[in-house]
Amino acid sequence: MKAITLLGSTGSIGTQTLDILAQYPEKFRLVGIAAGSNVTLLAKQVMQFQPEIVAICDESKLAELKTAISTLDPQPIIVAGEAGIVEVASYGDAEAVVTGIVGCAGLLPTIAAIKAGKDIALANKETLIAGGPVVLPLAQKHGVKLLPADSEHSAIFQCLQGVPDGGLRTIELTASGGAFRDWPVEDLPKVTMADAIKHPNWSMGKKITVDSATLMNKGLEVIEAHYLFGLDYDDIDIVIHPQSIIHSMIHLQDTSVLAQLGWPDMRLPLLYAISWPERITTDWKPLNLAELSTLTFREPDHQKYPCMDLAYAAGRAGGTMSAVLNAANEQAVALFLEEKIHYLEIAKVIEQVCDRHRNDLNTAPTLEDILAVDQWARMAVTELTAAIA
Ligand code: NDP
Repeated sequence: MKAITLLGSTGSIGTQTLDILAQYPEKFRLVGIAAGSNVTLLAKQVMQFQPEIVAICDESKLAELKTAISTLDPQPIIVAGEAGIVEVASYGDAEAVVTGIVGCAGLLPTIAAIKAGKDIALANKETLIAGGPVVLPLAQKHGVKLLPADSEHSAIFQCLQGVPDGGLRTIELTASGGAFRDWPVEDLPKVTMADAIKHPNWSMGKKITVDSATLMNKGLEVIEAHYLFGLDYDDIDIVIHPQSIIHSMIHLQDTSVLAQLGWPDMRLPLLYAISWPERITTDWKPLNLAELSTLTFREPDHQKYPCMDLAYAAGRAGGTMSAVLNAANEQAVALFLEEKIHYLEIAKVIEQVCDRHRNDLNTAPTLEDILAVDQWARMAVTELTAAIA
């Protein structure tokens, strides 16, 4: 039985991971669980899965959590705050930690888990995008595996099983095109927040759904792929594939192309990330190509999706630039979700913040440098958007 810890248990990734654990109690045991502030759902999860340790980031909810689970016997260790999340991440005999926290808030807990020698089932892409220069050497030093749970990176990882060293030529990430894939670019000034949080294929948290609409999500995934698979940015491509059935492809040196297919259902990449290299038998609906009949592809529109080019540029700049891009995006999307800026401002402010950082670029940052630019970029977005308002 594999011991698992779950960070971000109350979100989309978290609840789907728990669905898997509930379905395979003989295969997985939940050691630790952590969430942000949704105390009602967290308490329910703790009562059901009875982990050894639980953390809630929002310290004001600690008393409520304790009361809600007071009948549980034995009681788990109950901690709170950012330090509590870090404690859960590194606790006990968990072999793998599923990182379902959204945003750069996942960085320190992920680092703690790596230092404790735990494999990472990586959903929280922001961690690698901001912290890649620190996270990768650390994972290597501690002999820890970064097992991708993002569907595209899982697809590439699955296709790579059995490909010899030097066999890979390029990677092709598929993108659904997000909420506005069928909107003419001229209509984007009419976009509302409600429009942007409706994803055509996937049910996900709000931040990643907006990132899908801007295609920043795919841009972030390009950087994630660069760090996970060691390819140059010139060798990582994006193709729009509206049906989200092919989750990504690899092109090999002999021109062969391998793809991984499946329904748009995050449970499959999550299951593979926590069970690799095993293949677990499921009762999930098998893919039926005849039922689908058509799979289509097209080039992404650079005018419609400026965030995609911003992400490539930040990735190529390297060092602290991708942390700046990520933080600026997080802050801009948060302001958009609060309806304080328009959709089209998201790309504009990210571009301006990245430009401002160009002269201060640090190509070999420490963790402290990354955390400092993350804070700086968030403040820069707030300043710029205050000036717009
Ligand atoms: P959600 O917004 O649905 O969930 C986010 C989770 O993070 C919640 O459990 C939330 O807790 C928790 N959280 C937020 N801030 C903190 C914090 N400071 N400390 C501890 N926990 C915190 O996001 P998703 O599940 O959609 O996404 C999670 C990550 O996975 C993101 O990085 C995303 O890019 C990635 N991902 C998601 C996919 C998906 O299908 N959803 C697909 C591929 C990648 P609470 O709600 O209690 O406040």
